[in-house]
Amino acid sequence: MADKGDNQAPEWLRDGHEHIWLPYTQMQDAPMPLPAVSAKGARITLADGRELVDGVSSWWTACHGYCHPHIEQAVKAQVEKLPHVMLGGFANEPAYKLATRLANLLPGDLNHSFFSESGSVAVEVAMKMAVQYHRQKGTPNRNAFISFLGGYHGDTGFAMSVCDPEEGMHGHFASYLPRQHVVAVPEDEASITAFEAVLAEHAKHCAAIIIEPMVQGAGGFKMHDAAVLQRLRDAADAHGLLLIFDEIMTGFGRLGGSLFVCEKSGVVPDIITLSKALTGGTMPLAATIATNKVFDAFKSDSADDAFMHGPTYSGNALACAAANASLDLFESEPRLEQVAAIEAQLTAELTPIADIAGVVDVRVQGALGVVQVTALHDVEWLKSRFIEQGAWIRPFGDVIYLMPPFVIDPADLTLLTKVMKLVIFEWSQRFIGEI
Ligand SMILES: *Cc1c(COP(=O)(O)O)cnc(C)c1O
Repeated sequence: MADKGDNQAPEWLRDGHEHIWLPYTQMQDAPMPLPAVSAKGARITLADGRELVDGVSSWWTACHGYCHPHIEQAVKAQVEKLPHVMLGGFANEPAYKLATRLANLLPGDLNHSFFSESGSVAVEVAMKMAVQYHRQKGTPNRNAFISFLGGYHGDTGFAMSVCDPEEGMHGHFASYLPRQHVVAVPEDEASITAFEAVLAEHAKHCAAIIIEPMVQGAGGFKMHDAAVLQRLRDAADAHGLLLIFDEIMTGFGRLGGSLFVCEKSGVVPDIITLSKALTGGTMPLAATIATNKVFDAFKSDSADDAFMHGPTYSGNALACAAANASLDLFESEPRLEQVAAIEAQLTAELTPIADIAGVVDVRVQGALGVVQVTALHDVEWLKSRFIEQGAWIRPFGDVIYLMPPFVIDPADLTLLTKVMKLVIFEWSQRFIGEI
């Protein structure tokens, strides 16, 4: 159906397919996407009535599942009152409440939220904040960044510059991007030595270190432990750098144990970026949250020292109402318990996949299960086999992964892991041929 559904496809899809330009998609032979018409919990319903169990949570956003009535009601009530009002000169209750709640939820004195509409922009904001922070401190030459191989921080210019230059999907733009210091995550002797050498040579021109803490997401779900983060914290302090945690993927409980890695790891950054699950997968919204130290550096008698950034839709009331409703659900429903149960089930059900030829590694953390293979070979074949089996699973790079909504019921999760095992077995026979 993914490729051959053109005849049954609804008119809006056939017409629009000529006019839409899809993300990261070769449009010459782009398969007709599946028409999604509704969704509930962990299931997405297609125009022809079929249901798929969602293993992706719509790019890792829909942590409470789809159409949770509490978020729906909050958004409905807000749209009738005040969907949006400019944040320059006007305050709206949802944005101010959200800033207060995030400050209370986050560890340390991460107390000051700057709102934008996408993860990439939240990263740009964090980077500009770090650069201007050093200007405020009288060291305006500190304007480069240290980031890590395997990292992904978004698709806009400076966000691209701190991604892995090979795996960050931005190779075409190498000559357009500012040069940063992208090094291996310092977790063993060789990488720690290399990291220290870069610090010794370049730290004095750098504003900050930026990392996705504990799990690097879109670069291939590589994992490191909390000791690495403490090492970065110590290095940042020793060299006068800010430390930025990009928790756009890891935030809001995805890795289990607590809502944020900066809490779970005991390492508090100077700036944190949040987006993806911030509104429970309903509205675009992102936050860049700074500590008192960073915020206070911008205070002065001169308007020129204000932080120079201002998205039109900053603090959008509708999106912030959705985010507040999402935070309510983390309080009123047992999300972290659900993540722990998902972790146990993924561990039990995915581990045997490691025995299939061509599988390199199986790793699980919280509600994230990753099967790494030698190479995917034919991604479209894999995607359509998953769909035929009733599962929405989107492999990329060298990984096939599950990031289900936290509310998924155990039977649906078993459907996902069974389909994964079946299709990876078929893939192995077809492309590895050693069984
Ligand atoms: C998705 C992601 C981004 C970019 O967010 P967009 O909303 O797609 O711009 C940045 N950092 C991390 C860690 C992400 O997972």
